[in-house]
Amino acid sequence: MANKLIYFFGKSKTDGGGDMKALLGGKGANLAQMTKIGLPVPSGFTITTEVCVSYYKNGRKAPADLAPDMEKAVKWLEKEAGKKFGDVKNPLLVSVRSGARDSMPGMMDTILNLGLNDATCEGLAAAAGNPRFAWDSYRRFLQMYGDVVMGVQKKNENDHEPFEEVMDALKKEVKVKDDTEFTAVHLQELVKRFKKLIKDWTGKAFPTDPVKQLEGAVFAVFSSWMNERAILYRQKYRIPDEWGTAVNVQAMVFGNMGDDCATGVAFTRDPANGDNVFYGEYLVNAQGEDVVAGVRTPLAIAEMAKDKTIGAAHKELNDVRKILEKNFGDVQDFEFTIEKKKLYMLQTRNGKRTALAYVKIAHDMVKEKLMTPEHAIKSGDPEALNQLLQPIFDTTAYAAATKEGRLMAVGLPAGPGAASGSVVFTAGKAEELAAKGLSVVLARIETSPEDLRGMIASDGILTARGGVSSHAALVARQMGKVCVAGAGDIEIDYHKGTLKCKGVTLKEGDHISINGTTGEVFHGQIATADSELKQVLVNKTMKPKDSKVFQYYDFLMKLADKYRTLGMRTNADQPDQVVNAIAFGAEGIGLCRTEHMFFEGDRIIAVRQMILAKAEDDRKKALATLLPYQQKDFEGIFRALNGLPGCIRLLDPPLHEFLPQHDNKKGQEEVAKQLKTTVAEVARLVSELHEFNPMLGFRGCRLGILRPEITEMQARAIFQAAAVVLKEGIKVKPEVMVPLVGFKKELDLQMEIVHRVAGEVMKATGKKFAYTVGTMIEVPRGALTADEIAESAEFFSFGTNDLTQTCLGMSRDDSGSFLPAYQGLEIIKANPFASIDRTGVGQLMKIGVDKGRSTKSDLKIGICGEHGGDPSSVEFCHIIGLDYVSCSPFRVPIARLAAAQAALRHPAKPVSAKVIKDSKAKTGATKSKTSSK
Ligand code: ADP
Ligand code: MG
Ligand code: MG
Repeated sequence: MANKLIYFFGKSKTDGGGDMKALLGGKGANLAQMTKIGLPVPSGFTITTEVCVSYYKNGRKAPADLAPDMEKAVKWLEKEAGKKFGDVKNPLLVSVRSGARDSMPGMMDTILNLGLNDATCEGLAAAAGNPRFAWDSYRRFLQMYGDVVMGVQKKNENDHEPFEEVMDALKKEVKVKDDTEFTAVHLQELVKRFKKLIKDWTGKAFPTDPVKQLEGAVFAVFSSWMNERAILYRQKYRIPDEWGTAVNVQAMVFGNMGDDCATGVAFTRDPANGDNVFYGEYLVNAQGEDVVAGVRTPLAIAEMAKDKTIGAAHKELNDVRKILEKNFGDVQDFEFTIEKKKLYMLQTRNGKRTALAYVKIAHDMVKEKLMTPEHAIKSGDPEALNQLLQPIFDTTAYAAATKEGRLMAVGLPAGPGAASGSVVFTAGKAEELAAKGLSVVLARIETSPEDLRGMIASDGILTARGGVSSHAALVARQMGKVCVAGAGDIEIDYHKGTLKCKGVTLKEGDHISINGTTGEVFHGQIATADSELKQVLVNKTMKPKDSKVFQYYDFLMKLADKYRTLGMRTNADQPDQVVNAIAFGAEGIGLCRTEHMFFEGDRIIAVRQMILAKAEDDRKKALATLLPYQQKDFEGIFRALNGLPGCIRLLDPPLHEFLPQHDNKKGQEEVAKQLKTTVAEVARLVSELHEFNPMLGFRGCRLGILRPEITEMQARAIFQAAAVVLKEGIKVKPEVMVPLVGFKKELDLQMEIVHRVAGEVMKATGKKFAYTVGTMIEVPRGALTADEIAESAEFFSFGTNDLTQTCLGMSRDDSGSFLPAYQGLEIIKANPFASIDRTGVGQLMKIGVDKGRSTKSDLKIGICGEHGGDPSSVEFCHIIGLDYVSCSPFRVPIARLAAAQAALRHPAKPVSAKVIKDSKAKTGATKSKTSSK
């Protein structure tokens, strides 16, 4: 490998920096950055992610230069630290830490105190004048190395960790409760037993040579990139396998040398609600993972100020808090250790936060000028905005539960929102019940990465142990789960399958309710209610000025609107949906499905009459009954739109969807009665309309072409509604959309009818209104012949649901039986019905856009498939130059943020003079993409 394999950070030099996350991993880049800005960071070096990538490319073999380069790096580190690796008098100890580009909490394992063996341990004891500390460090090292490198691990979810088991046995023997009570002699005995455990499990002796130890640890970090937990995590967060992880080797500092030492983690602000308070926890006389692992209950960071021995470090930490926010421009989640009263910084990264904290922090830090508005937009997870719509407890039910004394315990509010459901104690059970459609609350003493699947399946997570930095809290923040962590009063017994508290015993499956905003745990069910955001925007039962959440959200959305160039529309079929969508920021309708209206009230009778009528006259009669209904619906929609554009699709689904099928004899009897005919006749007609592949059958514009009177009725309803609403003084912008067009002629035939009817209505009503007629591009032929179709169409809208089905030759409804396996095998990376398959379907879209605009350079193009609300798909739509996306009302905020992010990630390329000249030659200037806004 030609590139540099190793980057240093230390007193004498620092090669890397905060902007090198891709190469050095998040941890390594930020360690370098903290060193550069003068924060106290123990020296070390980072092996780049490229080395890991090359390791996997070459069948798990490291590049030849790695060993000699590492030797040099260790020499350098020895000089920096003034200690020598393997020195029996004053040994250098190091930590070996993984670190991918994005932090993957708890996924990769760290090894501390590397360099210890029987001889160096004695040396460390003498040098520190503290044998207990030396033996404690040694036993920790054996534990971590044995686990991570040598594979001494528990085999089942409910087993105890083998090392913990050995340690617990010794605790019992020598009658101590906490590991801090072990004496040096105890710990020496523990070291002996740990070595034996390793030998017994693996048949191999523990390596004593520090260089061998380091080698083993580095490769273990590389290997952990491909462990099951890491892979699962990457799948969930769509982190590519190809990134690889860096390895950080860093001189140890010790938080376990006595009561003037500590280790901790902190957030510069509260990551659950975004409050501007210093937030964190620490443990005196402890090392590394102790705080996170919930071995002992940590203290809140504020307590440190009162500590006589290490109180000064609290002040220092407060300064660090400000320095970090100023330098990194975001809330930081950092790790520190205090060795003999001296503070050392061991890690910092942008803090993961709940959606509530995200909008609050963005609002506050942008106003405080600590965060750039661009970062506020870029750093958000659009999908997570859903959390702001998550239910809270219904006020009355909540008060009743409290009054009834159903409150069992209070833990840490680790993930806002309310969850009520069946309590389960294992991840497997959580998955099983969730698959049956039940609401589940997963209760664990504490969670670990093995519980991830169960946590994903649950509505809420409850733990008995662990603080804000515990695994449960971390994951809850990231996944937006309702979570109460460390509810210390509850007792969970995995073997009995019970949860006990205050004399109440819940068995698996019993109801439990948790409030992740307050930390309360109730037994029994509690009804939930709408979030504040819904109360303000949808129900209008709360005023904007009374909701802080709304104000933060609104600030962020307005910021997003400044950056996005994509227009925002909604898929809505009813006036109330339109009103909601506009409240969420929609600027028009991208898809109004007319057939949804067919099912309301007794309209369905007329629909069925229309379908089953044999003579054209009968059909027209039925349609005439339908017309006023449709017109009223459109009037409502135009009023709700209040001048915004409304794209209405002509009838699309196969007709049999409106009829009772053969397994519904009762339905057929009813229809026979309604239509004054026989059941046999209805059954015969249903048979006649039966299709083997309705998705590819008599539907879309094919209906309107063979039964033009349907299109005529719908066009009339649209335009008469437009005239009526226009008369009321409300502007209307109808867009008539013809579905499933693959041939220009199909569109032409339909357009002829629409234009004729428009003319007739204008004449009859004396009202002139502008309207456009366009088409959905949703079959491959439509995309491939878009240049021809654009000769007629005034706009395109990609129907990516059907386009995906027809491009892939996969029916969405039947894909459930093989898609999961396909994803497992990585034939496809993401579900193509959720996120646009860019290379396949995306290519058709790109062809559609390019060909369409080659005919009409200002052709308006949008998307109305469900992909319009998926952040990655929104980004793709931005890249290929669509004018707008359209999605369901509640996904509009998500799409708004995603569109702003896309605009920041892919700024418009400056248009070259030639392109401008060319496009002017055709139909005027290059398109401004804000035209639909
Ligand atoms: P993770 O990626 O899981 O956060 P880290 O590499 O940050 O793992 O290591 C976990 C903990 O180990 C750190 O929070 C820190 O307390 C401790 N640690 C790591 N390196 C050192 C070191 N050089 N000196 C002292 N403690 C360390
Ligand atoms: Mg860490
Ligand atoms: Mg379609």
